[in-house]
Amino acid sequence: MVSFLEERAKNMGGGGQNIMTDAKSVLNMSITVTVSAQKPPAPHGYISISTKRLLHNLEINAGARASVWVDSMRASSPTHKKSTPNDQGSWNLHHPSALEMFEQIIDASKGKQIVMFLDYDGTLSPIVEDPDRAFMSNKMRRTVRKLAKCFPTAIVSGRCRDKVYKFVKLAELYYAGSHGMDIKGPKKRSKTDKVTEHVLFQPANEFLPMIDEVYKQLVETTKSTPGAKVENNKFCLSVHFRCVDEKKWSELAQQVNSVLKEYPKLRLTQGRKVLEIRPTIKWDKGKALEILLESLGFANCTDVFPVYIGDDRTDEDAFKILRDRGQGFGILVSKYPKDTNASYSLQEPDEVMDFLQRLVEWKQLSMGA
Ligand SMILES: [Mg+2]
Repeated sequence: MVSFLEERAKNMGGGGQNIMTDAKSVLNMSITVTVSAQKPPAPHGYISISTKRLLHNLEINAGARASVWVDSMRASSPTHKKSTPNDQGSWNLHHPSALEMFEQIIDASKGKQIVMFLDYDGTLSPIVEDPDRAFMSNKMRRTVRKLAKCFPTAIVSGRCRDKVYKFVKLAELYYAGSHGMDIKGPKKRSKTDKVTEHVLFQPANEFLPMIDEVYKQLVETTKSTPGAKVENNKFCLSVHFRCVDEKKWSELAQQVNSVLKEYPKLRLTQGRKVLEIRPTIKWDKGKALEILLESLGFANCTDVFPVYIGDDRTDEDAFKILRDRGQGFGILVSKYPKDTNASYSLQEPDEVMDFLQRLVEWKQLSMGA
């Protein structure tokens, strides 16, 4: 066991005194050093086998990294289907539909508290050209509201927490924004009618001025690439390239590289049609999941059943935590085979909604019974 504070001090070069939390239990939390779970080898033809290697290169190989980024951008953001029917069949076998396996999933959760973790983009909302217009449907919102009445529910997103809240608009949920670097509990109304939010964790406060500075530089530098959009997610930055012509990806990667090479304390990771820039502290959606479980009082419980649904490479950290803990499972939202630590799959946000709706109906029925 490595104490969480030791781990944090190490990752932040000892400069992480600005931690803001009012949850004592969070400070006392320890992170277990996890051992990789044995994963079955991915069948031939998977898109992200090469991505993994490329992403590794991306983080360690500072020279020539712009060209590596472009390969990685292609691998993690396929513009057309690359798998064969055989790959699809084999993948479906390893990661069956969560809808088809609903009964088995419910059986596995018997006697345990289900806790729901939901990514936003591509999970609750469709991926759209303009990230500012990634609205979720009212039907999805009603479903998530009902879900939160049945189970503790958290939204875990790469986006700024305020922004994801503006999309979801449900005060009763937990929100982890900026890949979990900004976590808050549900809004509560006091007797004096004052609305308070419970800050659970903000481990990267000291990086805020640097992130602002880099945001301005990236906006300026990427101006000449049509379709590129830089988004300030408070504790991290996103350079969206979903509207950039593939021929221009290399130019964009070079522009981002030219800014980032001056900031060794920031690192680049990759999502679906997005380059993400974040502090070098070891923080990801998996750690956000652990902090949330801890603050919900399930740190060392064996009777908790976390379910994490996400569509993105960044969600893999959370899938892996669940696999390593041997608790609950991950569901990957994807139409195509991808190498993943998730156990089940759903094809698109509409299927996510059906799955959530079935969970609600099952819970309501079992409470009635
Ligand atoms: Mg997503």
